[in-house]
Amino acid sequence: MNRVEYPASLKELVAQLKRMPGIGPRSAERIALWMIGARNARPGEIVAAITAVTETVRPCRQCGFFTTEPLCEICTDEHRTSNMICVVEQATDILPLERTGAFRGLYHALGGRISPLDHVSPEDLRIDALLERVRKDQPAEVILALASDVEGEATANYIAGLLREFPVQVTRIAQGLPAGGGLEHADELTLSRALSGRVRL
Ligand SMILES: [Zn+2]
Repeated sequence: MNRVEYPASLKELVAQLKRMPGIGPRSAERIALWMIGARNARPGEIVAAITAVTETVRPCRQCGFFTTEPLCEICTDEHRTSNMICVVEQATDILPLERTGAFRGLYHALGGRISPLDHVSPEDLRIDALLERVRKDQPAEVILALASDVEGEATANYIAGLLREFPVQVTRIAQGLPAGGGLEHADELTLSRALSGRVRL
């Protein structure tokens, strides 16, 4: 007896949805069935949105943030200072920093961090492009806003070493206690970094 299955095109849609991050087999099936069954699903609009994004959104030539133009909204904003470049791992790190409203300089997304285990070496990252920017635009400060784990530290140290030949101040963002967090819940590494990163009042 033949096992009854979904039509091939539906199975293909489930297979494609399953490739997306965070979508497991069950979710993929639910989404696919919703698309063909729900009255308000409007799958055509989903297709159009996917097409528009993949055809028009690309990394900014300078900083790596998302844009539909050669240069992004941040890089072309005349009210921002080009005197400071904040280096982040991923373009997705830029928005959280922007939302703080605390930084009005420019950004540079590396596209990852040095990680021998994942076969990511310095040449795989936009480090040369950063050096070129520093050479050309001569910012006063480069702020390294990288993760505080081993690979983030290694990447920060590597970049700081390369920047030594330029007349630029290299800083890294402070690490310490989360807002609203008490000392009793902090781990030792966080506490020791909070102590060494203390500021004068
Ligand atoms: Zn940009």
